[in-house]
Amino acid sequence: MNSETTEIVKKLLESPKRAVVVGHKNPDGDAVGSCLALSFILNRLGHKSDVIMPNDFPDFLKWLPGSEDIVIHDKDTDKSMTLINEAEIVFTLDFNALDRTGDMQQFLEDSTAKFVLIDHHQEPDSYAVASYSDTSMSSTSEMIYHFLEALDEIGILCVEVATHLYTGIMTDTGSFRFPSTTATTHRVIAHLIEMGANNSEIHQNVYDTNTPDRLRLLGVALKNLTILSEYNTAYITLTQKELDTHNFRRGDTEGFVNYALSVTGIVFAVIFIENKQDKLVKMSFRSKGNFSVNEFAREYYNGGGHINAAGGRSNQPLSKTVTEFISILPNYKKALTDAS
Ligand code: 5GP
Ligand code: MN
Repeated sequence: MNSETTEIVKKLLESPKRAVVVGHKNPDGDAVGSCLALSFILNRLGHKSDVIMPNDFPDFLKWLPGSEDIVIHDKDTDKSMTLINEAEIVFTLDFNALDRTGDMQQFLEDSTAKFVLIDHHQEPDSYAVASYSDTSMSSTSEMIYHFLEALDEIGILCVEVATHLYTGIMTDTGSFRFPSTTATTHRVIAHLIEMGANNSEIHQNVYDTNTPDRLRLLGVALKNLTILSEYNTAYITLTQKELDTHNFRRGDTEGFVNYALSVTGIVFAVIFIENKQDKLVKMSFRSKGNFSVNEFAREYYNGGGHINAAGGRSNQPLSKTVTEFISILPNYKKALTDAS
């Protein structure tokens, strides 16, 4: 975090403040971990802070300390509105534009609070008085650690915050395997373990909580895997019916797209997930090497993310979405074959 941003944040936090810490829609481990960590820290520094998420987060994160107090905007809109209205500072974590908060966007835009952005996605919007944006970071959770260092508050780390940050870094780095994982990431992780994060227990809590339904849904996803070898591309589809048959719960499809990317020679992987209620198809994109799925998702699917992991959506029916996707690939043939 640069010194200018540090000074602005230090000034904002000089006296006790009411704050809310907000994550993105469909919160993942990094969003939930970083928001809980920052909120715990603010409360320990004498402020009054709450975490608000636009919608519910996956069950595999519900053991996180303090997760039971997270306000879910679409379930508890009145409480969320009150907290946003009363807030003097709004921290927005792990996203780069207010439209990533879904129905919360309007309330946030109407707020008179000072905004602070902490995020590692590309091309952040400029709604904040202080923006700590670093696309080279493994995760927003790692950034919260560096944020504490910049504020000279690293001594405030406790077992709960170490657990939040470990979980966020672990989930956003694919368990420390993505290229964004650096020597510094591992040093941060080592310190978090020293501060009481129980690494083995955290891995178990997050990854060993499959239901039989989820594993069978994975079986369906793998059966639906299609390889387009001409383009080093693989994709998976899941229909609403397939989700319903397996009693789909939020988070159940997390990581499925990585199986498509794990096929030898594949550099571009996509999962298309039908959502009849919202009348859209949600897509997750993953890539290896220089092929930027962030640019691809921005260009065609009203989305974005990082160079090797991004998301987007289509308002066309599932089959049309897939046909259109395939028709785009010839434009990228060189990029996709050079990248392998
Ligand atoms: P996932 O595919 O796991 O949902 O998301 C991969 C990455 O892309 C995450 O960093 C996530 O925040 C980002 N992402 C997912 N969906 C969207 C979207 O619709 N818009 C933008 N801008 N980013 C997204
Ligand atoms: Mn993240």
